[in-house]
Order: sequence, then structure tokens, then C-alpha cells
Amino acid sequence: MDIAEFPRTDDIDFRLLKPVCYELSVAKFDDTVTIDGALDVSASLACGRCLEEFDIELSVTMSIKLVPGTELPDSPEMELRGEDLDIYYYEGDEINIDPFIYEEVILNMPVRPLCSEACKGICPQCGKNKNTEQCDCPEAPLSLLGENLKSFLN
Ligand SMILES: [Zn+2]
Ligand SMILES: [Zn+2]
Repeated sequence: MDIAEFPRTDDIDFRLLKPVCYELSVAKFDDTVTIDGALDVSASLACGRCLEEFDIELSVTMSIKLVPGTELPDSPEMELRGEDLDIYYYEGDEINIDPFIYEEVILNMPVRPLCSEACKGICPQCGKNKNTEQCDCPEAPLSLLGENLKSFLN
């Protein structure tokens, strides 16, 4: 099974390199549906420091429960998602599991992706990618406060 398309999200910028592969077992007990399994994700993300795209592979374990949405107490404070358990709600006789898979993938994407822990990022002065190019810019310029303090002390 796989998903060919992935909806765009504004939260996190990534591109799937291939459809998400998943192997899930779905069990129903009374009205509670349990979905367990594993997802394999290959995605391309932009590094938070140097902005270069890099590829990651993620293996995500998924385990969620779905209960009928109609049993929801009619309270505006109820959230769509249960607090500590991975409980979701469904309505009707059919469950489209794609949105749950999307959500698991998004939840497992790094929030501040780095192409490598040692990424040097972009030079704030000349804009060169310091991983691939050398630049002669001085290190961080002295802060104005430091300058003022120095002239004050002199
Ligand atoms: Zn980087
Ligand atoms: Zn520079």
C-alpha cells in the first residue's frame, strides 16, 4: 500500500521523495478501531542553517485508536485529539486513514532540520554557504554595546 500524493502544509516544508509506504494492521473492537504499524518515509527537507535541501529517511511507528465521533460529549472544550493517548474520532462507516498517516508523518518530521550537526550555515555577511565556500569575512562583528562600553572606559 502506498500514498501517492501528500497535501501541502504550511507548518513544515518538506517534499516526499517517494510515496509513504506503510504496513498497518487495522482491528475493530466494538466501535473502537485500532491502527498499528510502521511507516517508511523518504523526504527532502531544507536545512535550517544553510537552507540546502537534504534527504532523510524516517521509520515511524504508528499506533492510534479511533472512536466514533458521534459519542463525543457536546462540549466546546473537547479537542479533536485525546490528551495523552493517540485517540482520534471518526464519523460514518468508512475511515479514510490517509489523514492519520499524514499527521504521523508531519509529527515525526524534525522541527529544526539540519543537514548535519556540524553544518556551518550561511555567512550572515556575504551569504555564502560556509559548508562549501570559504569567505574572509571577520567573525561576528563587535556589538555596539561593547563599542560604547570601550569608549566609555577609555
Ligand atoms: Zn545545513
Ligand atoms: Zn562571508
